[in-house]
Amino acid sequence: MYRSWDPLSNHNRIYLSPPHMGTEEQAYIAEAFDTNWITTLGPNVQHFESELSAMVGSKGAVALSSGTAALHLALQLLDVGPGDTVFCSSLTFVASANPIRYLGAEPVFIDSEPASWNMSYHALQRAFRDAFIQNKMPKAVVIVNLYGQSADLEPLCALCDLYGVPIVEDAAESLGATYQGKASGTIGRFGIFSFNGNKIITTSGGGMLVSDDTAALERARFLSAQAREPAIHYQHHETGYNYRLSNILAGVGRGQLKVLDERIRSKRAIFERYHTELSTLPGFGFMPEAEYGKATRWLSVMTVDQVQAGTTADEIIQRLHENNIEARPVWKPLHLQPLFAGCAYYPHESESSLSEQLFRQGICLPSGSSLKEEEQRRVMDCILSCLRPVRMVSGGGGSY
Ligand SMILES: *Cc1c(COP(=O)(O)O)cnc(C)c1O
Repeated sequence: MYRSWDPLSNHNRIYLSPPHMGTEEQAYIAEAFDTNWITTLGPNVQHFESELSAMVGSKGAVALSSGTAALHLALQLLDVGPGDTVFCSSLTFVASANPIRYLGAEPVFIDSEPASWNMSYHALQRAFRDAFIQNKMPKAVVIVNLYGQSADLEPLCALCDLYGVPIVEDAAESLGATYQGKASGTIGRFGIFSFNGNKIITTSGGGMLVSDDTAALERARFLSAQAREPAIHYQHHETGYNYRLSNILAGVGRGQLKVLDERIRSKRAIFERYHTELSTLPGFGFMPEAEYGKATRWLSVMTVDQVQAGTTADEIIQRLHENNIEARPVWKPLHLQPLFAGCAYYPHESESSLSEQLFRQGICLPSGSSLKEEEQRRVMDCILSCLRPVRMVSGGGGSY
């Protein structure tokens, strides 16, 4: 049985991607206390927005209570509503698709491609062709940048432009990554980031919506604050949300932004150590880094081919758990989730679904930027202990 996280007995446990605070977060929090800017209004919020948008090179940013909230607002700004469809990566966390349902629309899931594990051009092309023939074009395409790496956005954008459908980049996992020199999350019409506790930087919980469309961002800001009209009394014409980030948490975010580059360096170094130690073993592989950009390696993800490796991803994850080490399979593709039973799905090739294969073979390894080398050694030794001794097959066979 899988036991969930127990904060009261966590000694010695190695986590997948725990929060890692820098040195300045507390000063920003203290400032918020000292000046009594405690709630959703205050200088940390404004600074966090402008510091992040300057860092990624977007014209603006809106700080929100979660990445999911940011996706919800982005899709609403693109006029997604009841009866619509939205194309969405299948190999991702459920939060990529839930906001589609919040708005009464239905997702159509798109498989991954091997070079980046992100959205497959071929699958997207088939989905668009069918939608065009059926006269049921999607309102938007949610493209996820998985595990710290951008999707191959240039061809995907060209295809979406051809059909006139806007892109929302779910960059919850890819803050700090680049695509052709640009920041991940800034290539679609809207981009969203998450500062949930497991992400590369965290505000304990929070998100950000970015775009070059500053008018749309103003509207997102309005909707995120209960759609309150500018009047001294409480005046409302539309249904809004309570989605703003608090000034205290924005202070944590400002401190975390300062250490983002350091976090990326640590994560990439952790990946390199896993790769050096394990990639030459038969049947072991790693998530590739595509040439078009730089990944953050938010999580180090390994694949295990049962036939060649003589062990399975499940077995390794189980062994790690027995040794108080957190590891997980890659995301269960959303088209396999009971929640989305009946939703259309386009695999990479008509006969083979890459996301399903990655789900069977993939392991997300402990990748916290604070992971010590000796802790990583413990993880790797535990993985190596799963390998059965190699037996030689003699010429005549039969002795195996
Ligand atoms: C974490 C995550 C989200 C949601 O972010 P929250 O801030 O937790 O709401 C969305 N999409 C992906 C791919 C994520 O990993």
